[in-house]
Amino acid sequence: MIEYAKARDLVLAAAKALPAESVPLARALGRVLASDVKAREDIPPFTKATMDGYAVRAADTAPAGPEGPGRVELEVVADLPAGRLPDKDIGPGQAVRIMTGAPLPRGADAVVMVEDTESHDGVVTVRRRVRPGDNIGLAGEDLRRGETAVSRGSLIGPAEIGMLAAAGLARVPVTRRPKLAVIATGDEIVEPGRPKRRGQIRNSNGPALSAMAAEAGVEVAYLGIARDRSDALTARLARAKGADILVLSGGVSVGDYDLVKSGLEAWGVRPVFWQVRIKPGKPVFFGVRGRQLVFGLPGNPTSSMVTFHLFVRPAIDRLLGRAVTGPEAATAVLDRTVSLKPGRTQFLRGLFVGRGPVLRVAPYEDQRSGVLRSMVSGRVLIVVPAGTSLVEAGREVEILLLDGF
Ligand code: AMP
Ligand code: MG
Repeated sequence: MIEYAKARDLVLAAAKALPAESVPLARALGRVLASDVKAREDIPPFTKATMDGYAVRAADTAPAGPEGPGRVELEVVADLPAGRLPDKDIGPGQAVRIMTGAPLPRGADAVVMVEDTESHDGVVTVRRRVRPGDNIGLAGEDLRRGETAVSRGSLIGPAEIGMLAAAGLARVPVTRRPKLAVIATGDEIVEPGRPKRRGQIRNSNGPALSAMAAEAGVEVAYLGIARDRSDALTARLARAKGADILVLSGGVSVGDYDLVKSGLEAWGVRPVFWQVRIKPGKPVFFGVRGRQLVFGLPGNPTSSMVTFHLFVRPAIDRLLGRAVTGPEAATAVLDRTVSLKPGRTQFLRGLFVGRGPVLRVAPYEDQRSGVLRSMVSGRVLIVVPAGTSLVEAGREVEILLLDGF
């Protein structure tokens, strides 16, 4: 039996980033960027008006005297919509009528908002003084040429899509999506929708683990239920050959470990660890078969989901080349005293009882590993170190955030 941190390190050490592929920008949402994307020009590429109005020399709007609203008349020498290049420079006493987004003509250093002007017969009266830089956006104010627009390992969300588009990319280098296969095991479990006899239960792990994998950004193949016989397991394993990650549920605890563990070993999986000093999820198994990562998760519904978060999710992130691996950690204040049996690192399913200015969390009342409701309500895992038997209300605890992959 090994410690949690050690087990997690062993998983990460075995997981290598997958090669890159190129996808159209429109299909890049949810993928992970495989290399840094740099701005090939300034963004925006030119200095422009950020308001409709008049491009002017700021000094012209404060002709004389101390502070205070000036009132000056300027000659309007051109009309400049967005998308058009200025063909006239601005000289002293001149202005160009300009629309938001149009390049600032040479000579101008500010824009007077149209609301602060009156225009008549080729002349504009400016009622308010502007300073250099007012109502203009500078070339490169978002990104300078050569700066990194989006860095490698980023999860591509809508803002990243916008930035990649601004940098001019029609196709995006992303890491290949890992293929993950899920096999449930057990003589007693029945797929939803199928007739169920007394003594049987529904297969909740197959669907829940497949959903977790999909949410983490992989391609999921659900391979069904292997009954508790080694030939049944072998038959399912044959279909998992092409998977980067294989996740099994059930059949790894002491009573029946022989089935999944020995079945995997017979199939060529080299064991890396079996049993970790954690609760829930102690019986978890991890092994490798070539480049394939193989996880045997405990059958209890909560244990299987928690161990997915703790071990499978970091492996997926690593294969995807993500900068962060696994659920994000944070600190919160514990709202209710918990007393526990020491000896294993515990991951209590917890809820937020207050989100600010200080995060406050409370453990879900029923922490038994068969109780899936704790995962339905739970938003965090509260981490209690192995040697701790009592954490008093008001103390700071480490939490792992389960939402927001
Ligand atoms: P095992 O790890 O196979 O000993 O299973 C531990 C517990 O989890 C038993 O009560 C099983 O019935 C239950 N279990 C195993 N697989 C599943 C599954 N796919 N869905 C729901 N419960 C399961
Ligand atoms: Mg079983």
